[in-house]
Amino acid sequence: MSDCLFCRIVAGEIPADVVRRGDRTLAFRDIAPQAPVHVLVVPRVHHDDVTSLQLDPDLLHEVVAEAAAVAEQEGLSAAGWRLLFNTGADAGQTVFHVHAHVLGGEPLGALRG
Ligand code: 5GP
Ligand code: ZN
Repeated sequence: MSDCLFCRIVAGEIPADVVRRGDRTLAFRDIAPQAPVHVLVVPRVHHDDVTSLQLDPDLLHEVVAEAAAVAEQEGLSAAGWRLLFNTGADAGQTVFHVHAHVLGGEPLGALRG
């Protein structure tokens, strides 16, 4: 999808601070981090959201496995980290190419702050 921001990052058309490259995934730092570590993990193929992604269980697993690998790589595994998929308007989803937020590096507090 040429008009999708994250498809364009996957294609290398828009720069990103990439932390891991998988065969079917890409992990890069969020441009407006909400925690000391804030990485987005995306499948290379376009899915609007996790409701669509979960129809491909192998790919869903690859996204989650890459998120765990990012957490390990970023030194979060011992202290803990958060994995979040915003889905739709009420959750505040702004980019409609599914992305897992990996958040950590400090106590994150309750989900609703
Ligand atoms: P959502 O609100 O859809 O769950 O999350 C979208 C995320 O994408 C936000 O945290 C936002 O900061 C991030 N974001 C938006 N545009 C860009 C961009 O061009 N590059 C990067 N790396 N992150 C972006
Ligand atoms: Zn896309």
